[in-house]
Amino acid sequence: MTDTLIKVDLNQAATDNEQVHNRWHPDIPMACWVNPGDDFILETYDWTGGAIKNDDDASDVRDVDLSTVHYLSGPVGVKGAQPGDLLIVELLDIGAKQDMLWGFNGFFSKNNGGGFLTDHFPSAQKSIWDFEGMFTKSRHIPGVRFAGLIHPGLIGCLPDHKMLAEWNKREQALIDTNPTRVPPLANPPFASTAHMGKMQGEARDLAAATGARTVPPREHGGNCDIKDLSRGSKIFFPVYVDGAGLSVGDLHFSQGDGEITFCGAIEMAGWVHMKVELIKGGMAKYGIKNPIFKPSPIVPTYNNYLIFEGISVDDDGKQHYLDVNLAYKQACLNAINYLTKFGYSPAQGYSLLGSAPVQGHISGVVDIPNACATLWLPTDIFEFDINPSASGPTKFLDGSIDLPIAYDK
Ligand code: ZN
Repeated sequence: MTDTLIKVDLNQAATDNEQVHNRWHPDIPMACWVNPGDDFILETYDWTGGAIKNDDDASDVRDVDLSTVHYLSGPVGVKGAQPGDLLIVELLDIGAKQDMLWGFNGFFSKNNGGGFLTDHFPSAQKSIWDFEGMFTKSRHIPGVRFAGLIHPGLIGCLPDHKMLAEWNKREQALIDTNPTRVPPLANPPFASTAHMGKMQGEARDLAAATGARTVPPREHGGNCDIKDLSRGSKIFFPVYVDGAGLSVGDLHFSQGDGEITFCGAIEMAGWVHMKVELIKGGMAKYGIKNPIFKPSPIVPTYNNYLIFEGISVDDDGKQHYLDVNLAYKQACLNAINYLTKFGYSPAQGYSLLGSAPVQGHISGVVDIPNACATLWLPTDIFEFDINPSASGPTKFLDGSIDLPIAYDK
């Protein structure tokens, strides 16, 4: 039987679990040790540690303290791993916790985190998704049901001291260009809500003061939010410290490319069954700076799409130069506007693009002055025909159901 090396109790505060942490720092002690070739299971909290409830009130999304995230299970020490090696992590399987067979999606208030389309959706809203085995549906967004492409939003190894210092330096330099921006440009270390695993006393306080926040993806992987890094994938991580220190969390039942809604994909608590191996000296052998991975041999098959184009011209008609971020925004807004013709609210459309297995593609980056991005909406997830036709759209929804909203106090 495979050992569960880290257990989480959803009725216990994540901060009381010493095999969980919410900052990146090389001095965080290993939560457990394994050998190359071992397979084992780690349980995880959802990324907020249970802050978002299964109800019809979005005030929890509005009021969430984002300095507390993400709660990660680990770090797992791998015997014999040394700086310069590659750690191979095979995601043998991933599932939801039996006592939490549901997940959440939402968007934060612009004044507390925001999101990709926060200028269009400035208030906190959420949708709850129920799991039916490998499928999910939401009482807040009728008319859709789809198979999960389950993946960890966040997985990576501990940085060394030099790399940590570099992260903090470059991110602070960015913050300094506009320190009062809402939402902020980046999140600096924040000691008071740091959870440093087993660390205690003065050592803990020192590490908490410089521990990197878990929000951005970095050279070690981290919060990459790649939907295709799913169960069955094999990932090759750079190793920076003795033992590697592998941590995982922020499990998603499903996500659209970009995780545009930020709170987040379909977020869940669960477990990851994984196997580790080493390639000694692999970073130099393969010229690896950021992780690489092989995708899963098993993915849901959605082959029919309606594809929305977007270009780098903003809402005011202003021309921008090859701005892929803006082009993807416009593609998303075009898809949301289309969905409203079938009776969805704009918020339902936005939430669906963050939750369903939509694809985002960078389609053109050389045709000055416009970048072109595309948003691929799978048409088979809908219980009605979403395709355009001469007879015009049929309103599937009457507007009586929408996402709960919580306005700023
Ligand atoms: Zn997430």
